[in-house]
Amino acid sequence: MTDTRHTRVLIIGSGPAGYTAAVYASRAMLEPVLVQGIQPGGQLTITTDVENWPGDTTVMGPDLMVRMEAHAREMGTEIISDHIMSLDLGARPFVAQGDSGTTYTADAVILATGAQAKWLGLPSEEHFKGFGVSACATCDGFFYRGKEIVVVGGGNTAVEEALFLTNFASKVTLVHRRDSLRAEKIMQDRLFKNPKVEVVWNHTVEEVVGAQEPRGVEGVVIRHVDTGETTTIPCAGFFVAIGHAPATELVKDQLELHNGGYVKVEAGTTRTSIPGVFAAGDLTDHIYRQAVTSAGMGCMAALDAEKWLAEQEGETPAEAAAYAAPVDAAE
Ligand code: FAD
Ligand code: NAP
Repeated sequence: MTDTRHTRVLIIGSGPAGYTAAVYASRAMLEPVLVQGIQPGGQLTITTDVENWPGDTTVMGPDLMVRMEAHAREMGTEIISDHIMSLDLGARPFVAQGDSGTTYTADAVILATGAQAKWLGLPSEEHFKGFGVSACATCDGFFYRGKEIVVVGGGNTAVEEALFLTNFASKVTLVHRRDSLRAEKIMQDRLFKNPKVEVVWNHTVEEVVGAQEPRGVEGVVIRHVDTGETTTIPCAGFFVAIGHAPATELVKDQLELHNGGYVKVEAGTTRTSIPGVFAAGDLTDHIYRQAVTSAGMGCMAALDAEKWLAEQEGETPAEAAAYAAPVDAAE
């Protein structure tokens, strides 16, 4: 079915940035529409314990995102299960094409498409994806009960994935290309204390090897960065946890990017190179990349969009605020 619908603010993405933008835009009476994408709730839905969301000593990532969705809905955001296939920022109103067949037109757009897992780029990694190669321990760890697993990476994600996988695996080997991790110290402590974990320093992964019929991983070949010596580590599962790249597919030819592909915003704001288009969260942040910072930027994006729309409509921000006042007064 094909239909077209217009909104003042279209929010693309349903991670902490998108849902926070939705809460603020709803409270500004902008009646936002939020399109969730293929990962409703974003990256936190593929993790377990989150221990740095203020107000919760520990909270399960998926639970937190369900709460954020409910909050945005309760405030009045229309949340749509759809994926934006293309976005035309060349003229206003902006036009987004949904996978469902719906065409969305919007006076302002808040981009909150976050980031996606990076891969090593090996042909053998591609060959065994879904057959022993994964980038999501919480999704696939269960399949490796009593088996040996290799994880590659040295950041928070790699350490978290390795620790989580010890719940299933008989042994987890973490392969890192340097001699120190960039993960937080508290995470490193937990890793080094875990008797199921071995860390192999100064090695890169060269190849994933395995059986063809049925297709399945049997090991990874690693190479010492100094000596060039190669070794094969036997394993049934190989988890790639080498970071995330910003999801800029929709806008990479339309907006200014920087720092290796992140959407550039004016310092201290969420304004992109096109007026009326705002960016928040991991999509624009190559430094912090946290749930709380993404949420903070989502708030900024909604406030920036509100101000910009008010300017477009000839209202001052004070007038726009006065328009929203009766709702606040009723609370
Ligand atoms: P994301 O969470 O990446 O969400 C992006 C959203 O955009 C998704 O909903 C997706 O469906 C949508 N989208 C993408 N493309 C489209 C499209 N074309 N159309 C429509 N929608 C689209 N941070 C912490 O602070 N604490 C932690 O403990 C923590 N643990 C983590 C564990 C793991 C395993 C990972 C991977 C990350 C973790 N992070 C943690 C980082 C945190 O998850 C991110 O910083 C945060 O989720 C970024 O939020 P975001 O809203 O920018 O985007
Ligand atoms: P990251 O911090 O960018 O770390 C990526 C790791 O992978 C680095 O150790 C890097 O090595 C290694 N790497 C990158 N490319 C590689 C390659 N081609 N081959 C081998 N190794 C490679 O990414 P992340 O761990 O996914 O974390 C992303 C963000 O989310 C961070 O800001 C992190 O703090 C946040 N996060 C937070 C939590 C938490 O708070 N509990 C949990 C998960 C993620 P080098 O070290 O040599 O560069």
